[in-house]
Amino acid sequence: MQGVRCWAEIDLSALRHNVECVRGALTAGTELIAVVKADAYGHGLEIIAKELLAQGVDVLAVASPREGAQLRIIAPNVRILVLGPVLPDELDLVLRHDLEVIVSSLEDLALFETADRPVRLHLKMDTGMGRLGAENGISLGELYTRVRAHPRFILAGICTHFAAADEDSTLTLEQRKRFYQAMKALPGLDVSTLLIHADNSAGLDYFDASGPCNGVRVGLALYGYPPSSVERFNHVSFKPVMSVHARVGLVKHLPKGSTVSYGATVRLARDSRLAVLTMGYADGFPVSASNRAQVLIQGACCPVLGRICMDLTVVDITDHPGSVARGDLATWMGSQGDVSIDAEELARHAGSISWERLCGVSKRVPRVANEYCVHTQKSDPTMK
Ligand SMILES: *Cc1c(COP(=O)(O)O)cnc(C)c1O
Repeated sequence: MQGVRCWAEIDLSALRHNVECVRGALTAGTELIAVVKADAYGHGLEIIAKELLAQGVDVLAVASPREGAQLRIIAPNVRILVLGPVLPDELDLVLRHDLEVIVSSLEDLALFETADRPVRLHLKMDTGMGRLGAENGISLGELYTRVRAHPRFILAGICTHFAAADEDSTLTLEQRKRFYQAMKALPGLDVSTLLIHADNSAGLDYFDASGPCNGVRVGLALYGYPPSSVERFNHVSFKPVMSVHARVGLVKHLPKGSTVSYGATVRLARDSRLAVLTMGYADGFPVSASNRAQVLIQGACCPVLGRICMDLTVVDITDHPGSVARGDLATWMGSQGDVSIDAEELARHAGSISWERLCGVSKRVPRVANEYCVHTQKSDPTMK
């Protein structure tokens, strides 16, 4: 790891803790479908999937057949569910890697009918998301009938997706009701043999243990960001799994009136002390957080000054209580001492959402699994 100047620590003990929190909120027998799409929300597919398998998770969800094929190498024996639509040229990947798929339309079904071996299918209903899924009970019924009649189709599950589980409980309850009603209309449906799933992380808040749902698809909460209103989780605190660190590359003084970085977007109102950090938008530190985000150095918040560059970021250390030096740890996501900055805060500064800030950490940034993650210089991979 010599020469690494911006890296991400993946705290596996935090991941284990979050898995326990989620499981604790579910009734026994409810299947946790762990969502590991987009390189496990930017945390690194292999590191995360291996730990989830060790924790006994046996259904994982990805976005595409290609992601499913990558995961199959790491996880030969688990069920892998592809959340996104399957394009005709991806069918081969689905069959070769034994992936389970979601069906929204007769056109989807026609593709899978061309398969020469059994396919495990989940029917999806659009109850208000307006994205994937059969648009109403009638077309869901038609899909159901055709799946049951086909010799090579295995009906594995039925699902829907909430549009605003973190914001709108009325819509969420309404969607759940439509989902239940649509299932009731399916003749001869035996839900006990199927995986019935609707809830994402935020949906957990309203998980209905008395209904037919026996699975949940959870991503964000596993990575340490709880659903927002979280009554069910009042007593637990999720722990962010990823932290991202860089270094102070240069410390300098600039006189009042100087401008800083590209576009000269800021002019110093006083004589200032600045630190130039070895991280930029090529690492996933977003340009839109220029002049807004904060970075931790020696446990103190330092405001970003001027536009964030591709490989460098300038912060103001004039008010820093310590003496910042070249080589110091600079944390853009994570904690130092009792102070922390999480993906949600960064997202606020960047006009973004925490999901995007997590998967926005770029591929230039090595992911280091740290069992004893202490968020200090001790865990700095460049010192090993
Ligand atoms: C990404 C995704 C999830 C997980 O959502 P979180 O909010 O991260 O828990 C669940 N279901 C579907 C269909 C998804 O695309």
